Amino acid sequence: AGPIVIIGGGHAGAALCGALAAAGLGAQVHLVCEEAVLPYHRPPLSKAFLKTPDEKLQPHRAEDWYAHQGITLHGGDAAVAIDRAQRHVRLQSGQTLSYGRLVLATGSRARHLPHLPASLANVFTLRSVADAQRLRERLHSAQHVTVLGGGFIGLEIAASARAAGKAVTVLESAPRLLARSVSPELAEHVLQTHRASGIDLRLGVAVGEFEFDGDRLASLAVNGRREPVELLVMGIGAAPEHTLASEAGLLCENGIVVDALMRTSDPDILAIGDCVAFDESYSGRRLRLESVQNANDQARTAAATLQGREEPYRALPWFWSEQGAMRLQMAGLMPTDPAEGKRYRRDGANAGTFSLLHYVGERLVCVESVSAPLDHMAARKLLETGKSPAPEAACDPAVPLKNHA
Ligand code: FAD
Repeated sequence: AGPIVIIGGGHAGAALCGALAAAGLGAQVHLVCEEAVLPYHRPPLSKAFLKTPDEKLQPHRAEDWYAHQGITLHGGDAAVAIDRAQRHVRLQSGQTLSYGRLVLATGSRARHLPHLPASLANVFTLRSVADAQRLRERLHSAQHVTVLGGGFIGLEIAASARAAGKAVTVLESAPRLLARSVSPELAEHVLQTHRASGIDLRLGVAVGEFEFDGDRLASLAVNGRREPVELLVMGIGAAPEHTLASEAGLLCENGIVVDALMRTSDPDILAIGDCVAFDESYSGRRLRLESVQNANDQARTAAATLQGREEPYRALPWFWSEQGAMRLQMAGLMPTDPAEGKRYRRDGANAGTFSLLHYVGERLVCVESVSAPLDHMAARKLLETGKSPAPEAACDPAVPLKNHA
């Protein structure tokens, strides 16, 4: 069926290379990586990599693995156009790659405040290792860091900066943290933990009116009061990278729309990972997920599709985040209307550790855990197998949760 061209060497692209190589198809694969480094693990960038000066980048695989599998790497080169009629992709370097099947794994891009100039010396976003290196260097000599946004990445950066001994302020416009992704109870626990660690965390703030000093942001107005800025990191979310797809006329709606086999509106073009919008099988909702789990599992589905097997995407969504000493783990999806569900708390083995079990009627739909990895694993298994123990039994700390699985 001709070459398989994968655009994007992030988690999804790397996982797809692994699955295709395992199926003996490596020699057909071309991987186009805009970043000039081998595919690497992104989650440490806001965690260990940021707070530890000599922490190294973790590549998914060594360079000779790709060569050994016959995979052709196009590193430091970006795809700039897809010609669906000619079935080829044009690269920035001028090269043209013919494809039998094409896979878009272009991920997402950090959002930037629209009214802030793009290249200020003391303003950062964090998406790539290049961003992380730049930020780590500047963080080293800074006394105070302002983080815009109380989402996962903003809070991880705040916790890492605090662990490195910096004074940290987090500004969140919503009345609570992590509003899109966790329950109010978990958000409150996270808030109190960060405040107890010394982070100045403010909710419901309006940020505006920037003042500049040459190429630096000098201050911003917080609720109308001017505050100086030494270093500002924006953690205000990410947008799907679907420029190539929309220019090629593929259906995009907050992400490249795919079916359960990861096929776009052109069945010879697949898409996987952060850049994709799909109908999630547990909730039936149209979703775009930004997680390593989603990237890896969609890559597996795509590998099956490319081999002519129909294995619809049905993975349970799960996610983790590390913020200071807290390890947060989430599995399943909460009801969009919190009033629809009921939450029960199961205490963990150690003080301050717990899991929140979310039920809709008698059905367990989602579990959130704070530093309770064993309970979380057991709960994930319950969700995956569709088992729903009665809440009182599931919350009895005398009975291991795995006994209900
Ligand atoms: P990406 O990994 O973003 O890869 C996309 C790649 O495509 C990029 O290298 C990009 O440069 C490249 N690309 C884009 N356009 C082109 C083009 N035209 N040509 C060539 N290449 C192109 N998830 C978790 O589950 N847990 C965590 O703790 C966690 N922490 C995170 C911390 C940080 C700092 C970040 C940024 C993300 C974190 N995530 C975490 C999210 C997770 O990393 C992503 O969901 C995952 O990387 C998605 O994989 P992907 O392959 O879809 O996209």
